[in-house]
Amino acid sequence: MRSSTQLNRDNLTAMSLLAIISMMALTTTSSFQPPVSNTHIHRSLDRNKMNNPAASRTSSTELNMVFDFFKKAQTEATEQMSAIATGLAKSRNQLLYNLEDSLALDSKNGMTLMDQLEDTLLQADLGMATTDDVLEEARYLRSESTEIFGRDEIKALLRGKLLEALGASARGSSEYMRVQKRAGKDIAAVAAVSEDEEADNSNSFALKFASEDDPKPLSSKKQLTVHFIMGANGMGKTTTIGKLAHRLKAEAGQKVLLAACDTFRAGAVAQLERWGERAEVDCFSPNETTNGPSAVLYGALDKAITEEYDVLLVDTSGRLSNNDALTAELVKMKRVIQKRMSTGFDEKVKPILNLQVPHETLLVIDAAQGRMALDSAKQWDKEIGLSGLILTKLDGSAKGGSVVAVSRELGLPVKLVGVGEGIDDLRDFEPESFVDGLLGIGVAGGGSSKEGKALEARLTQMRKERTQRAKTAPKPSSSPAASPMGSSAGEMTLQGLEDIGSMDMEEGVGEMQMITPGGGAGAGKNKAKNKNKKKKKRKNKK
Ligand code: GDP
Repeated sequence: MRSSTQLNRDNLTAMSLLAIISMMALTTTSSFQPPVSNTHIHRSLDRNKMNNPAASRTSSTELNMVFDFFKKAQTEATEQMSAIATGLAKSRNQLLYNLEDSLALDSKNGMTLMDQLEDTLLQADLGMATTDDVLEEARYLRSESTEIFGRDEIKALLRGKLLEALGASARGSSEYMRVQKRAGKDIAAVAAVSEDEEADNSNSFALKFASEDDPKPLSSKKQLTVHFIMGANGMGKTTTIGKLAHRLKAEAGQKVLLAACDTFRAGAVAQLERWGERAEVDCFSPNETTNGPSAVLYGALDKAITEEYDVLLVDTSGRLSNNDALTAELVKMKRVIQKRMSTGFDEKVKPILNLQVPHETLLVIDAAQGRMALDSAKQWDKEIGLSGLILTKLDGSAKGGSVVAVSRELGLPVKLVGVGEGIDDLRDFEPESFVDGLLGIGVAGGGSSKEGKALEARLTQMRKERTQRAKTAPKPSSSPAASPMGSSAGEMTLQGLEDIGSMDMEEGVGEMQMITPGGGAGAGKNKAKNKNKKKKKRKNKK
């Protein structure tokens, strides 16, 4: 339970954070980055070489258009950063504040920094697996070291581990390879991936679209992309489909059709139709003869193919009479798509199921409920097969950390995030912007846009130094000092902490220090102190 003072302090910090973020958004015009809001959809479409006259118009070299493009791109980059950062303000505030807050309790309850870090990461909803990973590497990196484990080191480590948990650590790095190995991948094959494939794989957060090179479905003149979108009621599925349709049309000039297949929830069809009107795209709805989900879908596929649409977005039911009925319906719908988009016949002249479609099977999850939605997500992934996640309502939630836990636990990339109820509030998921936004790094924390890269370099350096130490260290003995993962070898204690999140928090200068065997002047003293604290803690517990 958090006290009311605590909550007030949270609110105040949230307000100052928002003020800083707004100021940064207005003053960061010099740190131009590509317009993230456009990159994924454009990149995906480019990569799939879709025949898109509107997109080719965008590449005009007329000077004024180029200037306009960069001006717009720069504004969008700033807006994007500010939207993600603002969306994550609650989560960031809580995470950083808990870290600072729990660290401040250190001297009173005798917990080590490792215990506190564990509590803080679990409270941030990052999940057990990622929390364990962070603690394990923190112990490992600092063992046999006399160096201070300060704010930057913790942030560098957290940043690296969260990116890794999201499946986004730098390809080819030893850390990346370690994760691949742990995931049971053939390391030789992973190492042999060509540069082209690497580029493709680094794009696993982008939506997949039909490629010109794919065989065309029977009786189709043009490639059609189908995105199949699922989610329990209330998660934000219909809203997300509306926002996505708008982006596809406005940013990439795509001809989009919506399929209103949620025929179970009262009002769902009308709600999707309204979104269609707002996004200025067509909607295929049930009628007297076509009224079950699969029948509506079949009708929508027919219309999309014969009228040469680029993208079909399929809305599905979030609830039927029971879960089995819903799962069976969704499985059936997927087969309807695979059959209607068949590219050939078998020997009995029956259409062969096209297993390349739908191009995306996306599950929409409310970020605030993230971990609670895990069980049904796992079930759907098993029965229906998912290709990615869309996390909504990041703006209202203090549980942004659950994005990491959900993505990791399901082993699925997050592709899009919802940061508000408006038509423009759907963003590509950029792991780095997300993690930096969550940890208050770079622009999100009121600092330099280069901070993320500097922390990445710091982590690489720490890992190198650790490897070097391992090479030169004396052979392990039974003492805790020699064990790289030994708990006492890696335990850290706090001497104070300043400004853990580069934020305008409270005063208090100091640094975190780790007790390492023979670790510098005062380490022995600290160790003794810590022992006493632990004794006291145990006594208090009795
Ligand atoms: P569905 O039942 O899954 O189709 O959910 P809806 O699309 O009807 O959305 C349920 C509620 O969540 C509506 O009030 C939406 O406006 C709201 N919503 C959806 N996405 C977001 C988001 O990203 N942020 C916020 N704040 N609200 C959202």
